[in-house]
Amino acid sequence: MDYESYFGDELQAVRDEGRYRIFAEIERKAGSFPHATRYVEDGTTEVTVWCSNDYLGMGQHPKVTQAMHDVIDQCGAGAGGTRNISGTNHHHVLLENELADLHGKEDALLFTSGYVSNWAALGTLAARIPGCVVLSDALNHASMIEGIRHSRAECMIWEHNSPEDLDRKLATLDPDRPKLVAFESVYSMDGDIAPISEILDVCEKHNAMSYIDEVHAVGLYGPRGGGVAEREGLMDRITVIEGTLGKAFGVMGGYIAASRNLCDYVRTFASGFIFTTALPPAIAAGACASIRHLKDSNAERERHQERVQKVRGALDRMGIPHLDNPSHIIPVMVGDAHKCKFISDWLMDNHGIYVQPINYPTVPRGTERLRITPSPVHSDGDIDRLLNALSDIWSRCELARRDVAA
Ligand code: PMP
Repeated sequence: MDYESYFGDELQAVRDEGRYRIFAEIERKAGSFPHATRYVEDGTTEVTVWCSNDYLGMGQHPKVTQAMHDVIDQCGAGAGGTRNISGTNHHHVLLENELADLHGKEDALLFTSGYVSNWAALGTLAARIPGCVVLSDALNHASMIEGIRHSRAECMIWEHNSPEDLDRKLATLDPDRPKLVAFESVYSMDGDIAPISEILDVCEKHNAMSYIDEVHAVGLYGPRGGGVAEREGLMDRITVIEGTLGKAFGVMGGYIAASRNLCDYVRTFASGFIFTTALPPAIAAGACASIRHLKDSNAERERHQERVQKVRGALDRMGIPHLDNPSHIIPVMVGDAHKCKFISDWLMDNHGIYVQPINYPTVPRGTERLRITPSPVHSDGDIDRLLNALSDIWSRCELARRDVAA
């Protein structure tokens, strides 16, 4: 095989489809988010970021950055080992205690990312529990799917957000067989929210364990930022709550929160936990500061929701099509990969507005979109500039608008 030609041809095919990924090179400057500097061939330009998962701007919160500075000064840069071999720093343990408390669970276990936590925890549970069958929501994230595949356990896919279909599928199984039901709370691309209570009713009816990914909800929902399950008073009914420290908490890392035995079991058997260097202590300290702040402060959550409603309401008035959902994610639907990329480039080049196009395989073909994520630190001026630019490009491209109610 001519390897170089093979790689080149494969990449060209992706380019031809209009879904070749180009990463904007930006520098988020302390204290200036959502504004950032973008590096281009012949210099730099200023941009406003509208597609960040630092949903609350906590990545630049002074309490978070100060905690990180302090712990770098105290402990140095890296953890110095895997958790097992000299890498368990005091700050990891403090963070795990904070996470267990956040979710009202006995214990929590930290991973290097949310991706790794899903892959390792689901993979380990499904592979090791004898005869375990996994029931996975049809729109689960790649990290959950990869973990389940890696386990080689039997897997049944249930219709997205359908407790009825889950019930039907569970009813076909031997009642004595171990079962693990995996789903998310807020789905990141459509922004819809699972009927968690109904799903848990079905899990309990069939004696199945429940595993919820709250990656797009922790920090953002619930009186202390414990996620949608906290908001709905459901945390104690869920077997495993999984989350990230890299989105609303603004730093990096992933975790599960569960019973002491379950966490200990994953800690003991998950290769994705055991055989990798622990997160730097300063990262753990930054995440801890962020969680603590958001446990006590609702101001960021309230302003976040207000900003989201402001953008959504204006899109409605302008007839720009977006998915209606009850979350903070605003998917503006374009429906074509080439157009989506064109609009994204145009917004960036003409208005310094940065919204990454979302293409297949992240979303199905024909549903390409701009995924807009307002944050508490977007000003009225930022919002006006975004909306005017979107309206302008919608007209220039003669894209369909929704009927606007009189
Ligand atoms: N779960 C979901 C639903 C996600 O969207 C993501 C990341 N986009 C992850 C898990 C992985 O989290 P992290 O970015 O911390 O690896």
